[in-house]
Amino acid sequence: MKEIITKLCRGGPLTREEFILLIQNRNMTLLSSSAHISKNSGRPGDEAQSGGEGQTVFSYIKEKAFQKRIEVFSNTVFLRGLIECTSFCKNNCLYCGIRGGNAKAQRYRLSKDDVLSCCAAGYDLGYRTFVLQGGEDPHYTDSFVADVITSIKEKYSDCAVTLSLGEKTKQTYELWKSCGADRYLLRHETASKEHYEKLHPHSMSFMNRMNCLHTLKDLGYQTGAGFMVGSPYQTDETLAEDLFFLQSFRPQMTGIGPFIPHRDTPFAHFSAGNRELTLYLLSVIRLLLPYVLLPATTALGTIDSNGREKGLQHGANVIMPNLSPSEVRSKYNLYDNKVSTGKEGAESTRLLCSCIKDAGFEAVITRGDYTEEKNIKEETLCIM
Ligand code: SAH
Repeated sequence: MKEIITKLCRGGPLTREEFILLIQNRNMTLLSSSAHISKNSGRPGDEAQSGGEGQTVFSYIKEKAFQKRIEVFSNTVFLRGLIECTSFCKNNCLYCGIRGGNAKAQRYRLSKDDVLSCCAAGYDLGYRTFVLQGGEDPHYTDSFVADVITSIKEKYSDCAVTLSLGEKTKQTYELWKSCGADRYLLRHETASKEHYEKLHPHSMSFMNRMNCLHTLKDLGYQTGAGFMVGSPYQTDETLAEDLFFLQSFRPQMTGIGPFIPHRDTPFAHFSAGNRELTLYLLSVIRLLLPYVLLPATTALGTIDSNGREKGLQHGANVIMPNLSPSEVRSKYNLYDNKVSTGKEGAESTRLLCSCIKDAGFEAVITRGDYTEEKNIKEETLCIM
């Protein structure tokens, strides 16, 4: 394990087999001979956490990931205003509550004015990134979305626009990029084709999703991949494949959160993903991709009311509060009990900021773009 952890702390590369060992041996206790590896970075407070022998792989990696996060981002947290713009979806992902086949799902779509009002409210609260996420809604046409992006960029030229609207053609991605879209989130969901096919209907293709990710990156989007932890049929091997994929694809953003069942889906009776494993993987990803923009996700905040703060302590540096109009929030119901109010709601940004502060971090007003150097210019920091 010693060599594997040392390699990880240097950012890899690891083999698939090494990733499997990293996952399987996370609760193994490090022996004194291996516990001394790269201990003591010389940072204040470090010694207290470095328990020496007897420390588990998990706690050692968490500690290293936290150091890395501080090195790159200091104690800052980037906030993104999440606008869930449509709950219509033509797809039928077996895990997702807004799948087209769920006749019980409540459907809505926001108009351009609705989206712009969300941005206006968000801008006043200090948000400088807006994330438009939705199902694959055929009524959200390419030109409609292009018009919305153009209007947001006209009004808020100092803000980043992130899209998360699923699989589109290269032409569509190009069009939206030309209107000013900066980033695109498209979780790969699983890097194993076999596993992908257990999570999705035949009409969806693993190859197409992967091709979309490469296209987005080639077009110059800051691109986000990611997966659910504990999705049905996931194994240590498929998880290792996810990490191996992230290592080679090198996304600028990575979204991971626990799978949570939704009662009206074929996966209603599967159990939710494991919180500890999710936190551990956040730490592993921080070490593997030191500069990656890594959210503590809503799903993590749903299975644990302090999940987001714990995520930050395990290497995450982004939180995406909900800016959608309150009357539609419960309808964007990807999984049971999804939280969208309290500190999840952007209207409670001050509450969120004080929770972030209590956890030892600081939310900052910034676009928070990806860069492969120390991400924080402390002299220009504007605390929310
Ligand atoms: N249509 C867009 C957005 C999908 S929703 C797209 O295809 O990218 C955003 C993410 O929510 C998904 O990528 C999926 O990883 C996650 N998600 C969906 N259902 C979930 C569930 N039951 N539990 C946890 N996460 C889920």
